[in-house]
Amino acid sequence: MPLVQCPICDKSISKRAHTCPNCGEPDPFNSRVKSKVLTTILWIAAIVGGVYLFWVYGLPMLIDLAHKL
Ligand SMILES: [Zn+2]
Repeated sequence: MPLVQCPICDKSISKRAHTCPNCGEPDPFNSRVKSKVLTTILWIAAIVGGVYLFWVYGLPMLIDLAHKL
């Protein structure tokens, strides 16, 4: 496990620690907030990417199909 410095007491703690064992700071790196933000960003990227791919590849395909019918 990678060790990093606690921003509050500067002691080495695990990066995954949800509470600093030295000073008791809860959630010293806001890991839960960060992962939530990251998940939201990934979702937005996935949705935007999906819409873009549909617009570039899906729509012409649908138009082609409509013309063939
Ligand atoms: Zn600490």
